[in-house]
Amino acid sequence: MKSIKAKEGEIFDIELEEDLLKRNEELAEKNKHLLDKNKVMAIDVMGSVGSGKTSLIKNLIVRLKKKRRLGVIAGDLTTTIDAERIKEEKVEVVQVNTGKECHLDANLIARALKEFDLRNLDILFIENVGNLICPAEFPLGSHKRIVVVSLTEGPWMVTKHPYIFREADLVVINKIDLAQAMKVSVESITKDVHRIRPELRTIPTNCLTGQGIEAIIEILSL
Ligand code: MG
Ligand code: ZN
Repeated sequence: MKSIKAKEGEIFDIELEEDLLKRNEELAEKNKHLLDKNKVMAIDVMGSVGSGKTSLIKNLIVRLKKKRRLGVIAGDLTTTIDAERIKEEKVEVVQVNTGKECHLDANLIARALKEFDLRNLDILFIENVGNLICPAEFPLGSHKRIVVVSLTEGPWMVTKHPYIFREADLVVINKIDLAQAMKVSVESITKDVHRIRPELRTIPTNCLTGQGIEAIIEILSL
């Protein structure tokens, strides 16, 4: 088969601009410093549209809100659907609409952080824009990064997006109740993750029943 492979730097993509990535990293460090100063732990939740990022955050909030002071930054292109869903749990939510941008960056997070009284927060969840590609390249200053993969995304999701798993601290394998219908097993997705990084932790979850949520809280010491 005839095929064309893009060489590095050949694609017109502002996101590959090295200066920009470097500037983003500097801002991410600043964000982390600010969070540390205020003793806030920030968790970047990444994953495709429909993987269950919002549901996961809601599940974590339900279990944590009695013992921790929580906040959420909800990233999305143009809608406020996720932020509204999270607000139902009565925690502080800041919506960040990126317009056409398919990822959050450290500058947007710096702006969002100004909307919180950080002294009154223990944990800040950041729901990234639904995308498994560029969020990997844009650290936000978070302390932990979770990747959510759902069995409904089919058998090749992990293998096709290796980079995002290199930057992750935990992989949540969601919608495990649909394994049979999708003919995708938790075991095969786990194997794919471990082919990329053998030491990376994976937790199977079902956000409808809450299965696996306590395990996440334990692993991340939330
Ligand atoms: Mg969402
Ligand atoms: Zn992007």
